[in-house]
Amino acid sequence: MNQNTQVLSEHFIGGQWVSAQGQAQVPLVRPSTGQSLGHANLGNAEDAHAAVRAAGAAAAAMAATTREQRQGFLANILQAYQARSGELARVIEDELGAPRTLCEQLHVPVGLMQLQKWGALLQDFAFTEARGQHQVRHQPVGVCVLISSWNYPVNGPMGVLLPAIVAGCPMVWKPSEYALRSGRILTEIFAQAGLPDGAFNMVMGGAEVGEALVSAREVAMVSFTGSAKVGQHVAQRAAASFKRTVLELGGKSPFVVLPGAPTAQAVQACAQGLFMNSGQSCNAPSRLLVPRADLDAAKAVAKAAAESVVMGAPDQAGVQMGPIGHAQHDRALQDFLEAGVREGSELIAGGPGRPAGLERGYYARPTVFVANAQAHVSQHEAFGPVMTIIPYDSVEDAIAIANDSEFGLSAYVIGPAAEEVAPRIQAGMVHVNGATMDLGMPFGGVKQSGIGRKFGPEGLSAYLEVQTVLLPAAQ
Ligand code: NAD
Repeated sequence: MNQNTQVLSEHFIGGQWVSAQGQAQVPLVRPSTGQSLGHANLGNAEDAHAAVRAAGAAAAAMAATTREQRQGFLANILQAYQARSGELARVIEDELGAPRTLCEQLHVPVGLMQLQKWGALLQDFAFTEARGQHQVRHQPVGVCVLISSWNYPVNGPMGVLLPAIVAGCPMVWKPSEYALRSGRILTEIFAQAGLPDGAFNMVMGGAEVGEALVSAREVAMVSFTGSAKVGQHVAQRAAASFKRTVLELGGKSPFVVLPGAPTAQAVQACAQGLFMNSGQSCNAPSRLLVPRADLDAAKAVAKAAAESVVMGAPDQAGVQMGPIGHAQHDRALQDFLEAGVREGSELIAGGPGRPAGLERGYYARPTVFVANAQAHVSQHEAFGPVMTIIPYDSVEDAIAIANDSEFGLSAYVIGPAAEEVAPRIQAGMVHVNGATMDLGMPFGGVKQSGIGRKFGPEGLSAYLEVQTVLLPAAQ
């Protein structure tokens, strides 16, 4: 197919590729140029209901699969995933605009790591536990609806699709309308898993499909990854029929440099974590908290870090940061930057507008503001390469500022007392002294960052219903 006229028009429902019934289309855009490569035909509520019906019909067969069969499904996915890895990396590079090295070294390998982590959990998980003479059984919850965002188009979906297989649940996946090309490949990979027909379904769509899926009576569980605004709406819809709901939402994660920490090294680490993936990570360290005495030193390092980011087209060697993922988000990010300037926060690097020489496509300038804890740029998620430095006066003050947020997804604490400070930060995950992400550990947020966890046994529990079987005492 001509790369310039790609058309995606099929959902995967009931074990088959079927044409979309909806009328809406979305363009498939390359964010590094803004060029349209084709379009996708989105589904509508009818497509969503067809997928839910197919999943419902597969529920008994999926629940009856043995541990060994589920291990076999994961092994098939692994084989297909490995075979498509190179292609997947190229498509993510083109679709998201992430630099080639990031696609090859992070976006695609995390899928393999997830397969390994979920495989290990499946190997050991006790689906039935003895409790005295009784049994506690962890049974598949039923049809799962999994709604994804676009910023980690493999890692995000794999983290919610794979546990459905581990638990024995049929599923309907709605990828983001901005990640349909990688979504197509991932669907082709899951189609090779050998699951019972209907156990895995994919429907392309936006809000209409999402709402229909979340509202469908036969659905037992909804896992939503996206913005707090849409997440709130999804939770309300799901509550109407008492669905179990997991919400993985946004963040404004603090990076706390404690007294005694190596300031330059810490600020550098914060910048590196933030600017990766163009700042489009839910857990990006976007608020840098430094002792007031170290503010000038921190500003100098942060400014130099922002100004030295190598930006450009994702296929160019040496590029560290590509464009913002799509036009709508690009506009929202520019609005955020302008609001920061308007409110008078001190701008020390970057700001609104395009980086020099990158006027085409959706490029944003790596930006650093210095602000107080209440500023717009301290309180709102930019979901882009925007750091806010906030000075603090004491460790107690630092903890109070870190917690003065509607979000609570992740936090990063550096310094000799980091381990003591970590439990006092209101966040679902705290990284101490540079510890990196572990996909086997529960991940999720508090406050407006979400409800529930993904990854690890805590993530799996969302897909399982507890049944107590009371047995008579032995005579
Ligand atoms: P979004 O809320 O705009 O969209 C998320 C998904 O919801 C998409 O698939 C979209 O089509 C769907 N959707 C839109 N309206 C809907 C409706 N009415 N009913 C049901 N579904 C609907 O978010 P986004 O732009 O895709 O993602 C960015 C946000 O996601 C950021 O806030 C980011 O921090 C967050 N995020 C969180 C995590 C996490 O694990 N906590 C991971 C990645 C991204």
